[in-house]
Amino acid sequence: MNITDTHTHLYSSQFDEDRAEMMQRAFDAGISRFFIPAIDSSYTNSMLTLEKEYPKNVFLMMGLHPTSVGENYREELAHVKENIDKRAFYAIGEIGIDLYWDKTFLKQQQEVFKSQIQWAKEKGWPIVIHCRDAFDEIFEVLETEKDDKLFGIFHCFTGNKEQAVRAISFNMKLGIGGVATFKNGKIDKFLNEIPLEHIVLETDAPYLAPAPFRGKRNESSYITNVLDKLVDIYNKPYQEIADITTANSKNIFGI
Ligand SMILES: [Zn+2]
Repeated sequence: MNITDTHTHLYSSQFDEDRAEMMQRAFDAGISRFFIPAIDSSYTNSMLTLEKEYPKNVFLMMGLHPTSVGENYREELAHVKENIDKRAFYAIGEIGIDLYWDKTFLKQQQEVFKSQIQWAKEKGWPIVIHCRDAFDEIFEVLETEKDDKLFGIFHCFTGNKEQAVRAISFNMKLGIGGVATFKNGKIDKFLNEIPLEHIVLETDAPYLAPAPFRGKRNESSYITNVLDKLVDIYNKPYQEIADITTANSKNIFGI
């Protein structure tokens, strides 16, 4: 078994008490590849520590998360630039636009998103997009940046079928996680019309735990509950879905 969690915040302090046990549960469930999105400079050291502890399994991204775009965004952006010029990362992420919590910095969020997309393209790296209440704004930026160097993952995809098709048209895979298992999650209604070659698996741990753990702390081993749901949606064997989504993740991340 070779399952890939393409989006998991394993460095979160929510795992400080039992990180080794939590990782072991994931290994035991067949998850061996963990892609780690950045948020802002305050997490960089804990990400690097995690990479040292699990060098064969943990793959780091670098980027500035839209909810961390505030007054000091120029310094935060400089931190990202300094790090990506120092060493390689597997993606620029997570980046994007979030209008759910606060619209004050929309202009800055757009500017930060665009700059980071351009850096990813210069490096030849994928982007990992965070989109919350901002499909139109995200698509507007992607439209201006669309070319053969633009590719990546639309993390935690929660849109409708039309938005799914549009995201795929920008060379994005759809990151599917706990939301697919929610009763009111909606994407389970049309997902079987989106070929599996466009799908990757993720947990977004410690957030968005799938049913039956909804509302609790999420962890990477729960990706098996997402896989179970995809078995129902696609009517294909568990192993086949694990293999296809892991192959898709290799296409994106190059490893
Ligand atoms: Zn995330």
